[in-house]
Amino acid sequence: MSSIEQIKGIGIKSKSLLSKLGINEIADLLQFYPFRYDDIKRSDINELNDGDKIIIDGVIETNPSVYYFNRKLDKTSFKLNTGSNIFNITIFNRGFLKNQLKIGTNVTVIGKLERKKSAITVSDISFGLIEKEKIEPIYHVTYGLTNKHIIKLIDSALKEDIDIFNYIPTYLMDKYKFIDKMDCIKEVHHPTSMQSLKKARNQLKYEELFMFMAKMNYLKQNKANKIGLKRKVDYDKVLNMINNLPFKLTSDQLKCVDRIFEDLTSDKRMNRLLQGDVGSGKTIVAIIAIFINYLSGYQSALMVPTEILANQHYDNIVNLLKDYNINIALLTGKTKAKDKRKIYEDLKNGDIDIIVGTHALFTDTVQYHNLGLVITDEQHRFGVNQRANLKNKGITPDILYMSATPIPRTYALTLYGDMDISSIKTQPHGRKEVITTLKKEKEIKDVLESMYEQLKNNHQVYVIAPLIEESDKVDLKNVFELEEKMQKAFGKLFKIGVLHGKMTSDEKEEVMQKFKNNEIQILISTTVIEVGVDVANATMMVIFDSFRFGLSALHQLRGRVGRSNLQSYCILISNYETERLKILTETNDGFKISEEDFLLRGGGDLFGIKQSGDMVMSIADLKKDYNILLKAKEDSEEFIRGTFDNFHDEKVMNYITNFTNLD
Ligand code: ADP
Ligand code: MG
Repeated sequence: MSSIEQIKGIGIKSKSLLSKLGINEIADLLQFYPFRYDDIKRSDINELNDGDKIIIDGVIETNPSVYYFNRKLDKTSFKLNTGSNIFNITIFNRGFLKNQLKIGTNVTVIGKLERKKSAITVSDISFGLIEKEKIEPIYHVTYGLTNKHIIKLIDSALKEDIDIFNYIPTYLMDKYKFIDKMDCIKEVHHPTSMQSLKKARNQLKYEELFMFMAKMNYLKQNKANKIGLKRKVDYDKVLNMINNLPFKLTSDQLKCVDRIFEDLTSDKRMNRLLQGDVGSGKTIVAIIAIFINYLSGYQSALMVPTEILANQHYDNIVNLLKDYNINIALLTGKTKAKDKRKIYEDLKNGDIDIIVGTHALFTDTVQYHNLGLVITDEQHRFGVNQRANLKNKGITPDILYMSATPIPRTYALTLYGDMDISSIKTQPHGRKEVITTLKKEKEIKDVLESMYEQLKNNHQVYVIAPLIEESDKVDLKNVFELEEKMQKAFGKLFKIGVLHGKMTSDEKEEVMQKFKNNEIQILISTTVIEVGVDVANATMMVIFDSFRFGLSALHQLRGRVGRSNLQSYCILISNYETERLKILTETNDGFKISEEDFLLRGGGDLFGIKQSGDMVMSIADLKKDYNILLKAKEDSEEFIRGTFDNFHDEKVMNYITNFTNLD
């Protein structure tokens, strides 16, 4: 490693500024790539319209005249002969250039064209003519560094004799006719043409994605090779349980059950993501998995992100498995200390078969007798690295993650690249699509009328209060203001409940229970109800200030209704951005919506997932470079499978195996 101190002209100040950008070694600096380029090319005047940006060079025809408005403002004018035209040039605040802008001097100007007056208002001027195409790299600089400064430093770094390791195995270098990595790096910092630049960038992107996917694949193989529990389960018993359910499973649900059955009865360890749109019926699939695991004599743990959801799943499981002699327990932060101690004991000695709870399930004090299956619901809520710390007696449990946020293809490949994925794409039979409409705030009367329409038919309504980021106080005010409004409109006829983040979990639970029992007809809430809540009789969702939410979040909220064969409705109230919200009125397809959301918001904090450092790319863009990603995925799979043993570069392999083990 060579520190950047070696570079000529780097002082203490630049050094500390660079280190803020994460640049400490010369190699870091060389791999600090431009995020875009300015293509400086002589404009073709015939192609330009009035007001267009123009880049043109020529000879100064007249001596400049400078007019000083005051000490801070001056205007310089002269005529520029470009060979085919003579332009009247004006430029502000460059009076100090007066002596250099002499007749006969060659200059290049960048500015705005005014066709009729043959005039250009210039924003930038430089001396000399345009040679050919000039592509100027633009770096993401902050912390007091300028683009020019970075270019200079990188130029000095390029003069050092530095070797940057190329991670692309030789046979792939040959296959794609890739060039030397240092040449790519030079090209990226000093483009010679748009074409070579693109080639160089693609090679560097490929390398980055290849390594990323190789790590993912390695992780996946590593997990798959771990010996799992090979269960002996009588499939007829499972079928019997399925046949006794109060409804018929959809074919997608059955498919998922089959895959899980295979996983659980093979000696390969299950590491599966079950994804399906809101309301598609993932819970029952999880319960069947739990049942299979129970039949083979192991304990199961179902972890959910909220207490409300834990209670709901617990009730659900108790109800569906009541004909079997299974010991089911609930453990949340709310469980009384005395009960907790008993639960801990029973988990340890194996008296509990199934435990449902929040992350309380995996605190250090909890020990399992023979935990065979761990399921996390609403997986995206937990973040990538928050995988459970299992205190377990020597068994590697099978793992099933559930997520209601369908993941766009690119994300599925990367974020969940180490898992198998099963999807439920169809909704249960008889479901009607939720009808979604947009309303402006001033149309509130229509909204109230629509609400009344549902309420008088004994159905229930959710009302979501405007969300204001990071301001609990304002949030509360919104909830209570809304409550007042609703009381005025409906207070005499219907019961209204309020749910918000500042309530204790007891209070929340009580309100939720009342809503489930239809003792409350209108539930006003902040987004705390977003996750997983299931009240089939609720047929309308009204969301205030809906423009403040992401598309996926809105889709999740909307998924709280339409959970029976009753026609349901969603009203999005918003005074802004109706174009974006329109997507929701046009489709109920969560996969489509998350693709749109992905496009609109980019890779960043989508789904509220905190990305690990390993997801940060220096040149590739998961969204735009999908095709390169696919190639890199295929190639890295081949590479990891070891088909090309003689190419297994030790350094590459070390890099891959040292990848933070997520397990
Ligand atoms: P999600 O996938 O959003 O977690 P749930 O598992 O909560 O959805 O299921 C939503 C509702 O649909 C529940 O009330 C559940 O009992 C019901 N359900 C699930 N599968 C079916 C099915 N095949 N037929 C009818 N109703 C179903
Ligand atoms: Mg669910």
